[in-house]
Amino acid sequence: MSRKNVVVVGSSNTDMIIKMDHIPKPGETIIGGKFFTAAGGKGANQAVAAARAGGNVTFIARVGNDSLGRQAVDGFIKDKINTNYVLKDKTAPSGVALIFVAQDGENSIAVASGANANLSPSDILKAKTAIASADVLVMQLETPLETVKKAASIAAAKGIKVILNPAPGRPLDKDILQHISVLTPNESEAELLTGIRVANNADAISAAKALMDKGVQTVIITMGAKGAFVASDTFTSLVEGFKVKAVDTTAAGDVFNGALAVALAEGKPLKDAVLFANAAAALSVTKLGAQPSAPARKDIDKFLLQNL
Ligand code: ADP
Repeated sequence: MSRKNVVVVGSSNTDMIIKMDHIPKPGETIIGGKFFTAAGGKGANQAVAAARAGGNVTFIARVGNDSLGRQAVDGFIKDKINTNYVLKDKTAPSGVALIFVAQDGENSIAVASGANANLSPSDILKAKTAIASADVLVMQLETPLETVKKAASIAAAKGIKVILNPAPGRPLDKDILQHISVLTPNESEAELLTGIRVANNADAISAAKALMDKGVQTVIITMGAKGAFVASDTFTSLVEGFKVKAVDTTAAGDVFNGALAVALAEGKPLKDAVLFANAAAALSVTKLGAQPSAPARKDIDKFLLQNL
């Protein structure tokens, strides 16, 4: 099958991680941690996940005119992502997340959005042709909301499927929700959007209905190891997750969204698309890191064959 076009609008960050005994208190200095960097940012993670899952991916983003930005773009190119619309910001540095991870797994994160905060509606207009040729458009909320709105309205007007992963969680109005074909909150984001605490399937149905009343066509609430609860006009059910030995669940949601986009772009029925996304995300939690853990298409297909 020829690769389908997936366009991702979103953030790119470099994660700078120190693993240490405990997280330093204000004024405290701790020596002896281990440092490593990893490519991150929800948009970039989703773009990489979609490319490895078999999509022909175009990424629309902003990085700084600096070495971190160049490293990020080199990574996208390695994954055969079209970087024509990864713009170099003239004023702001590349986005960075400083992450402390303690022995017990607790973390503390500070994000400097940098160039991500400058991704503007006019950048979206410059990429209008790419958006118009998308089979699916994928977005999250680490870039300005008016930019997400602009891209959603352009795609929706052309009948292109729009997946919005509403993370990090923030309230969203009808203005934007009406353009969303598939909204993919996790349990806490679903609660933030609806005020309904999602602890079981009945709660998931109520939260999904509340979002569908605001114009969303399909709601998929990701529920960690349990899988994903799907609600649409034609299919409403939990699609169970796969049992794996979880090592690091960072970016599980991002891999889920990237893989889901490819499956929907290929025209898979909703339930099969969610199974594919669950499989990709399950594989990703068996490996360390965000982008390094996104699986290749052949491994997702093999995993599905072995586990269905
Ligand atoms: P987020 O990372 O955005 O909080 P979730 O934790 O809900 O999102 O995870 C997203 C998806 O990743 C789930 O719907 C599921 O498919 C998969 N997943 C997450 N954790 C596990 C796990 N421990 N075992 C298997 N699959 C998992």
